[in-house]
Amino acid sequence: MPLATTGELIAAARQNNRAVAAFNVITLEHAEAIATGAEQAGADAILQISENAVKFHGGSLTAIAAAAKAVAGTSRARLSLHLDHVVSEDLLKRAHAEGFSSVMFDASKMTYAENVKATAEAVRWGHERGIWVEAELGKVGGKEGEPPLDAHAPGVRTDPDEARAYVEATGVDALAVAVGSSHAMTERTAALDHELIAALQRAVPVPLVLHGSSGVPDAEIREAVRSGMLKINVGTALNTAFTGAVRAFLEAHPSAVDPRKYLVPAREAMAGTVAHFLRQLEG
Ligand SMILES: [Zn+2]
Repeated sequence: MPLATTGELIAAARQNNRAVAAFNVITLEHAEAIATGAEQAGADAILQISENAVKFHGGSLTAIAAAAKAVAGTSRARLSLHLDHVVSEDLLKRAHAEGFSSVMFDASKMTYAENVKATAEAVRWGHERGIWVEAELGKVGGKEGEPPLDAHAPGVRTDPDEARAYVEATGVDALAVAVGSSHAMTERTAALDHELIAALQRAVPVPLVLHGSSGVPDAEIREAVRSGMLKINVGTALNTAFTGAVRAFLEAHPSAVDPRKYLVPAREAMAGTVAHFLRQLEG
């Protein structure tokens, strides 16, 4: 299918009272597995490349973005391209030329005032080019001039009034919020604050995004979608599936050298994980 835009996928999810998942692409096999898993589940999905993944590719966005785009173009599933956790303005400015329809601009290391200014500028730049811009807000609080607490830090919660003010001041299209999940969890034990999700959903007019969903149990994800989470980000769970399959194969076949032998089960394991997550988002 031709590449979709993230804005289109989010709008369709909203209309159908469900959520759309964004999965992190590190290698070509990730992109292929996301497309296969989306086809298996009969759902849309977002191929998301983070600034850290770009660093892994020697700082070059072009090759991995082209690979993800080509995978989307030949898939039966409807897929879009999203640039995740962008800190570098140079990388942000490359999003459009490389075919990305959306960006998560991460100004979480700045003070609140600097964050609002930089994010509003990123939004203005993006909207002139039809790019959908996501940002994140943890807890502002703290001492004047200090950065707000990172939305990904364990224990942090986003305040609905602060979230409303932030969305108004920046004009962002979607907001990642801190409601109990955190990044890089390899066990699915996070408990979400569903009352807070509902309060945030009432407080801000834009879609809410859950980062760190790999550590959130299925039932918690389903309830978060019912309370109004519209974009669910999944990264670590794919890597757990990938590496688990590679490790199992190499332990069983210690003299294997052909990477296809272990990348096939690794890609299949990731596709299964993708399809499983997508089936939780029906709302
Ligand atoms: Zn994140």
